[in-house]
Amino acid sequence: MKGTLKLGRIAGISIEVHWTFSLLLIWVVFLDIQRGGNLSSSLLNIAFILLLFICVVLHELGHALTARRFKIKTKGITLLPIGGVASLEKMPEKPGQELLVALAGPAVNVVIALFLLLLVPWQEYINMDAESLEQLLTTPSISTISFFLLVANIMLVGFNMIPAFPMDGGRVLRALLAFGMDRRKATEIAASLGQLMAVIFFVLGLLYNPFLVLIALFIFIGAYGENKMVKQTSLVAGHLVHEATLTNITILHPGTLLTDIIDILIAGTEKDFIVMEGDEIKGLLYHKVILQNAKNTHLTAGELMHTQFVALRDSSPLQGFFDLMSSQKNLFFPVIDQDNKVIGAIDMSNVSEFLVLKAEGGSDRARA
Ligand SMILES: [Zn+2]
Repeated sequence: MKGTLKLGRIAGISIEVHWTFSLLLIWVVFLDIQRGGNLSSSLLNIAFILLLFICVVLHELGHALTARRFKIKTKGITLLPIGGVASLEKMPEKPGQELLVALAGPAVNVVIALFLLLLVPWQEYINMDAESLEQLLTTPSISTISFFLLVANIMLVGFNMIPAFPMDGGRVLRALLAFGMDRRKATEIAASLGQLMAVIFFVLGLLYNPFLVLIALFIFIGAYGENKMVKQTSLVAGHLVHEATLTNITILHPGTLLTDIIDILIAGTEKDFIVMEGDEIKGLLYHKVILQNAKNTHLTAGELMHTQFVALRDSSPLQGFFDLMSSQKNLFFPVIDQDNKVIGAIDMSNVSEFLVLKAEGGSDRARA
């Protein structure tokens, strides 16, 4: 994600905070000053927000480390003012595994809540009258912070278990449904339910609390995105890389001059190129790089190409292309056969075209 500050790594997973998070801290201090707070109450509020976000990081680590058990990597955890996001490479498709990964986050908050329960002096609170309790809960102390953190963790569990995408509850629901039906159908049901809940939240929000309107939009967009992604996954299922491969491509030599490459670019529809010497792939030359260096026509393909790249096997599932989307910047890959011979290349526009033709029922023609 752009505009983030790296805080460090935990268990090999990078933890980043988005710049908008600082707005939240400023907002909290602003509210506090407006209420007539002082330096110590402002510091208390900031400490509370920071501790809360540690709880959020632990929640996301719960997801990430459970996913790791099923060999799914996490690129990183990003903190936003609305919560945390763990960028898992993908969600496990087995319902049992998805259920565990989805539950692991809220489970962390349950454990934290149980621990905080021990730190809060309930006996003392119960014996107080309302006024002195309020007085006590606005005085900075470990018990006060523990009390509010406990409330916040309970709210985190409640909020995340709303059975709607992209909340954890939506994934739990989908996983439970998927035990009895196929995943696509389960996603459709869970996503429709999510969108219905979003509409209800939206109406309630307009009537009572504008914050609910924000949550409604968040859920609505998440439910839509998840449904679209699973539809695409099921569309791709059963298809192989070679079916969506561009076989009529121009291969460049490391010595090819940029001026000649630009001519090829203008004359045809190819955007990215494979650079080869004999039978060996030397690198990939991306469209963006060609444009960036368009003025230096004396440069060669060999000087401009990227030498770190991934190649796809023609007989492997097409889903592999989508799995690379989260880790690769340039979605252009050479396609090789079992003897490592290059048979063509694959890119997003061709895969999209293949999917569109398939969705419209023209798959056999598209594959020919
Ligand atoms: Zn979660």
